[in-house]
Amino acid sequence: MTTGFFWDERCFWHGGGNYAGMLPVGGLVQPLDGGLPESPETKRRLKNLIEVTGLARDLAMHGAAPASTDDLLRVHPAQYLDRFKALSDAGGGELGRRTPFGPGGYEIAALSAGLAKAALFAVLKGEMDNAYALSRPPGHHCLPDFPNGFCLLNNIGIAIEAARTAGLAQRFAVLDWDVHHGNGTEAVFYDRADVLTVSIHQDRNYPMDTGAFADRGAGAGMGFNLNIPLPPGTGHKGYLAAMDRLALPAIRAFAPDVLIIACGYDAAANDPLGRMLATAETFAQMTGQVMDLARDICDGRLVMVHEGGYSETYVPFCGHAVLQRMSGSDVDAPDPFSGVFPLRQPDARFDAYLDTVFDQMTGRLQT
Ligand SMILES: [Zn+2]
Repeated sequence: MTTGFFWDERCFWHGGGNYAGMLPVGGLVQPLDGGLPESPETKRRLKNLIEVTGLARDLAMHGAAPASTDDLLRVHPAQYLDRFKALSDAGGGELGRRTPFGPGGYEIAALSAGLAKAALFAVLKGEMDNAYALSRPPGHHCLPDFPNGFCLLNNIGIAIEAARTAGLAQRFAVLDWDVHHGNGTEAVFYDRADVLTVSIHQDRNYPMDTGAFADRGAGAGMGFNLNIPLPPGTGHKGYLAAMDRLALPAIRAFAPDVLIIACGYDAAANDPLGRMLATAETFAQMTGQVMDLARDICDGRLVMVHEGGYSETYVPFCGHAVLQRMSGSDVDAPDPFSGVFPLRQPDARFDAYLDTVFDQMTGRLQT
């Protein structure tokens, strides 16, 4: 079993600027201490943790070339890329909604997409059983011509289009379990029947006006987008049930050549940008679920691309649990919150309510 891990130190050097500068000044609002919530620390500490425990020795560690201009142009219009490159060369700034970048932002974003592309290519070429791309900046919110939610290029969209052009695969399924809606990936493939996009997210967290269950695709893509919005407070059981009852059957029916996970960790119980109760064990078990499914339907071809997750203390342990499961390694990193978060789960009434929500969704999918 070979699990690839694609990373580059320069991805940790992407600067998002000072978030405090975007908050209203005056009144009773005190500025945040520190910068943008999307900081390098969560990702860098994941890389640090797998080195400290030794898990890195059980992974195939790789760098990657940046995504090429041709790669980017398959998803993003030239006008957007030109504006992004010019502002990046001029020292950085803001082109979308709360997604600032510093000098070199363009090159680092292309490198982040390149990591996702390299991970996907390695798996599709059979060089690795599965692979993880520690991409930063993240990608799943980025629309073709509008960056938002800390995402400057749509990493997964770029990787998919590059793989299709190279003739490596025809049908792609993307499962996004970041706590926020994968609105960018949805937009890139909304009218396409050859890419299934599934997003499990906190209902109306971010963006607040996308991610509805009713949004199933358009034109030829009708029926090939599935949103599973969950109420705040959904925990371990609820996530596994959403996977079992809705996400996994949809992917199985689609029968893709490869399964790609938009792997965010902001559904974790202490994330500052989510209100969910998932634990490191939740992410490990969801990884087991998608590995089992991938074995059944696409010879195990599975690629994870890192998205959000803003707890500097917990993201590394959630990521470690995912990578341990992907690789089958026995190198463990005991969850420091294992005595707390599993006890702070919703009660039976909440789970019963969720069951009725899933019943309704299942019923609507069958009509
Ligand atoms: Zn997120």
